[in-house]
Amino acid sequence: MTDETSKELYARAKLRMPGGVNSPVRAYQAVGRTPRFIKSASGSHITDVDGNEMIDYICSWGPGILGHAHPGVLKKVKAACDDGLTYGAPTEREVEMAELLARLVPSMEVSRLVNSGTEATMSAIRVARGYTKRDKIIKFRGCYHGHSDGLLVKAGSAALTTSVPDSAGVPADFTKNTLVAEYNNKDSVQALFEANPDSIAAVIVEPVAANMGVVLPKDGFLTFLREITKQYGALLIFDEVITGFRLALGGAQEYYGITPDLSTFGKIIGGGMPVGAYGGREDIMRMVSPDGTVYQAGTLSGNPIATAAGLATLKILAEDRDIYIRLEEKTAQIAQAVREASHGRVVVNQIGSLMSIFFTDGEVTDYDSAAKSDTKAYADYFGFMLDHGIYVAPSQFEAMFVSDAHGDSDIQKTIHVMQEYFES
Ligand SMILES: *Cc1c(COP(=O)(O)O)cnc(C)c1O
Repeated sequence: MTDETSKELYARAKLRMPGGVNSPVRAYQAVGRTPRFIKSASGSHITDVDGNEMIDYICSWGPGILGHAHPGVLKKVKAACDDGLTYGAPTEREVEMAELLARLVPSMEVSRLVNSGTEATMSAIRVARGYTKRDKIIKFRGCYHGHSDGLLVKAGSAALTTSVPDSAGVPADFTKNTLVAEYNNKDSVQALFEANPDSIAAVIVEPVAANMGVVLPKDGFLTFLREITKQYGALLIFDEVITGFRLALGGAQEYYGITPDLSTFGKIIGGGMPVGAYGGREDIMRMVSPDGTVYQAGTLSGNPIATAAGLATLKILAEDRDIYIRLEEKTAQIAQAVREASHGRVVVNQIGSLMSIFFTDGEVTDYDSAAKSDTKAYADYFGFMLDHGIYVAPSQFEAMFVSDAHGDSDIQKTIHVMQEYFES
């Protein structure tokens, strides 16, 4: 290890890794810059190998709600490491996690831990199909549910900026049971149910969409999904991989007061380690092997280090309910400042600690209105932010994440830089 710059590391990386990265959005292709290679991060700040210290609003794409390297989490992780990294056998922490989940998110009566959000959604869909004995699912254009074959249809963010809505390598046969509706459009859902009254196993939705930029559900939309799924004997799956433990301790389902049949979690639930979870109604979850006939397994699932990080994070969140008020206030401050400074050049969608600045002039309520955004203007904004020490997503279609570690001086500096950008 030497003191190589981001440019040098990127050149090496591109030779041996697709796009030089292990996940596409990191490559900065949508904004035409060299990705920053990160050396370390602490609290609200992230430092690249070039020595730039930036205020981080990516927060690892969601997990970092407490900020980086939270001492309470690190302590638990370090202690867990001393006891061995993995056993492939049950541990007390997994039981504690399942109990805590059921307490914080009451619909999670029975749950299973996996290693990523992708695994969680893929498995939840399998359970829904096994339980209902139906094959079709409805997803929404612009909602992302990980990269499993059947869900990689009209999936937002990375797919949006590279203009490849679907992926090569996914046989049409694998997605023929994936029906696509429009977010916030009840009629589009109704029509799919009317055309397929007995064959839809589930509707899967991001209760607040955050992978086409942040798009809030319109009043009554989630309630409608709850009702129509019941009416047709289908299950409602909330993909809370982003919203879980972020909008509220009980996720979007607590925030909006709607109880889904199944839910999926990721990101925050791992506290910075690779964890996902799916679960829900007991009668449905009893379908999962070895209780039932839906097979799903994982060598590292419920990993002792990952559960230590996740448990520590959830407990800190659970013991500090004001945290969600603080997060909302800070984020709303930024949102308001941008609205004022931009004089209508952008639309800001914000809820809790999630927000997006869309470079467009109409309301953003679905995929079409999000996709109208001027991605070149976003790239320009992004470059300015980066050059002024504000680390935001290198894509118009990703959320800005605020953490509890963002202090008032971070927020004020961020607002100042944004004002400078929009007023220049
Ligand atoms: C990130 C994300 C996923 C996928 O999670 P991974 O851990 O990246 O596999 C699924 N659903 C939503 C809503 C997400 O934001």
